[in-house]
Amino acid sequence: MKQFAIAIHGGAGAIPRSVMGAENEKNYKKGLEEALLAGDTILSAGGNALDAVEAAVNKLEDNPLFNAGRGAVFTNGGTNELDASIMDGKNLMAGAVTGIKNVKNPVSLARVVMEKSEHVFLSGAGAMEFAKKMNLEFAPDEYFFVQDRYDQLLQARESDQVVLDHGNTRGATGTPNSKKGTVGAVALDVFGNIAAATSTGGMTNKKFGRVGDSPIIGAGTYANNNTCAISCTGHGEFFIRSVVAYDISCLMEYKGLSLKEACDIVVYQKLVKIGGEGGLVAIDAKGNIEMPFNSEGMYRAMRKSGGEIYLGIYKDPAHS
Ligand code: ASP
Repeated sequence: MKQFAIAIHGGAGAIPRSVMGAENEKNYKKGLEEALLAGDTILSAGGNALDAVEAAVNKLEDNPLFNAGRGAVFTNGGTNELDASIMDGKNLMAGAVTGIKNVKNPVSLARVVMEKSEHVFLSGAGAMEFAKKMNLEFAPDEYFFVQDRYDQLLQARESDQVVLDHGNTRGATGTPNSKKGTVGAVALDVFGNIAAATSTGGMTNKKFGRVGDSPIIGAGTYANNNTCAISCTGHGEFFIRSVVAYDISCLMEYKGLSLKEACDIVVYQKLVKIGGEGGLVAIDAKGNIEMPFNSEGMYRAMRKSGGEIYLGIYKDPAHS
C-alpha cells in the first residue's frame, strides 16, 4: 500500500495547564481530531494532498476555538482581518490572501487565487472583489465575533500591546480560549505529492494593515516535493525575518539535512536566538513528520497511513 500522512496545528504558545482544565482540553482535542480526519479521509480514499490540507484547515476555520476564520482575533479597529496561504509541492504553485474580511474560509480563497488567477498574492478590497467574482462564501461580521476574542482586544488596547493570540498572558476572562491560534496543515498523498496550508486572524490589536508570516510563501507556508511541506505558527515578525519555512527547505536541499535536523536547527536554534516564539508542522515526501515548537505548547495532531491518531498540546518527549 502506498503511504499517506497528515499533520495539523491549531497554534503555538503558552497554554498553562492550570488554566486549561480537562473539559477545555477535551474540546480542543476534539476540534483537532475532526480537522485531522477531514484531511485523512480524503487521503485514505486516494485524494490529493492539496484537497486534504484545504479540508483540514476549513474545519479549523469553522471552529470558533481557533484563531482563523470564525473565532479570529480582533484588530485594533475592532475588525477581523484574515490571512491565508496554500502551496502545492508538486509544481510549486501557490496562492495567498491578506487583510480580507467576511470571507468564511480564507484558505479556500487562497486556493482559488492559486488556481484561477494569474497571481500569487492578493490583498484587502481587491482580494474580496476576486472572492465575490469566484462565488466564495461570505459571512456577516457577527459570524466571526467571539466574546473572549473581543475581551482580549480590550485588554490589549489598554496596554497598547500587539498580542500573540496564544501568548504568555491570560485573556480578559482568564479562560484558555485566549490561548490558541493560527491553524495549518501539511499532507502527503498516495501519489507522493506534498502540500501545505495556513490560515489566521493574525495578532490581537494589530494595526496599520499589519501582515504576519502566515500568508507569506516561504515564511509561514512552503511546499516542495523535493524537500518538505511546512505550516508555521508563532510570532509572525520573527518568522518573516527568519524566512522559516523556506529555510528548512533550503537546509534539506543545499545541506542534505533530514527533515528533523533542519526543523531542529530552525525552531530550537535560529528562532530562539532572535527571540522568535512558535512552532510548525512539517512533512517530507517519505512521510516523515515533525512538529517542533519552542513555546510552552502547540495544538497539534497527526496520522500516518490510517494508523494511530496522535493529539497533543503540551510537550511530549515521544513526539516532540
Ligand atoms: N503567525 C501568526 C501571525 O503572526 C500568529 C499565530 O501563529 O498565531 O500572524
